[in-house]
Amino acid sequence: MELTELKNNWISQFPHPLVIAGPCSAESESQMLETARRMQDSGAAIPVFRAGIWKPRTKPNGFEGVGTIGLAWLKKVREEFGFKTATEVANAHHVKAALDADVDILWIGARTTVNPFAVQEIADALHGTQKTVLVKNPVNPDLALWIGALERLLGAGIHNLGAIHRGFSTYRKTNYRNIPNWQIALDFKNQFPDIPLIVDPSHICGNRTGLASVAQEALNVGYQGVMIETHSNPDAAWSDARQQITPEVLAVLLQNLKVRSTRVSGFDEELERYRTLISDLDFQVIDLLSQRMNISEKIGLIKSDHNLTIFQPDRWKAVTEYAVRKAEETGMSQDFIEKIFKAIHEQSVDVQNNVMRTK
Ligand code: PEP
Ligand code: MN
Repeated sequence: MELTELKNNWISQFPHPLVIAGPCSAESESQMLETARRMQDSGAAIPVFRAGIWKPRTKPNGFEGVGTIGLAWLKKVREEFGFKTATEVANAHHVKAALDADVDILWIGARTTVNPFAVQEIADALHGTQKTVLVKNPVNPDLALWIGALERLLGAGIHNLGAIHRGFSTYRKTNYRNIPNWQIALDFKNQFPDIPLIVDPSHICGNRTGLASVAQEALNVGYQGVMIETHSNPDAAWSDARQQITPEVLAVLLQNLKVRSTRVSGFDEELERYRTLISDLDFQVIDLLSQRMNISEKIGLIKSDHNLTIFQPDRWKAVTEYAVRKAEETGMSQDFIEKIFKAIHEQSVDVQNNVMRTK
């Protein structure tokens, strides 16, 4: 069986969009139960409670999760409040413990998806079960790796599959913790329209302010769910404190989401898809311009140290000629590119003047 043949009906047991919420990490029984109680009291439709029991941390000496004791708390959350439960598994031991504790949904984290040995080990450990498994995109923007992980699970007979878009890491400092790179997730969606795609704005943003707009953008292009980290006391969270929100804030966020029917009309969805891709590119254009200005600043320093003039006509002529030639190759108007480069040059001169003024 191929991934494209999967009919993922598991998600239709949940209201649209599927909301998965709960703390980044399970910390204590009282933290889990209080978060769950307040999620329920908020009145929002949240069917699935998440909590990380084992935490893959980039650096050593961080909090690596409470371990199996947390599974008992997760069970209590289900028994007392009726949530379905979800946790991350990264090896066969985690899978066995999570199966023993009857966790409803398992997910494979971004740092595990990159490792085919680990994914295969997890798939083998799941063989013969009918668990629902969600695969987060790998930390690096590699669609094949993401698909490969799902194929390994399918190969082990797991049919209830979903994908989570949690953004991609980048060396550049940006407003995102992990840049969304919508193009990759939308390529995934195009290739596998029947595999539910869930957005994780928490790990994309890394802060609280961007969550709502990332969640909305995802729903606009037809995602079927959101996973949002929610904590009874976010500021005191043992992991990912800056991006977690309270159950009450989550309820407001969910209430303000404009939910579309899963089957939006073709042209609407296409329009939204293109708009999302355009914002992705705009983000990159701005990011590149800011990198360019940072370099201009460094050049300004060198010129200042060596008493050179800021404006060097030959150099500028070469830059413009190169840009115009590139414009021709890509079929864009020369006039347009000249205008843009004139504006860039003006800004670059300003930046360098500022450097000289403040030296
Ligand atoms: C998480 O969901 O808490 C987590 C560790 O996510 P990711 O694998 O996306 O970093
Ligand atoms: Mn987290």
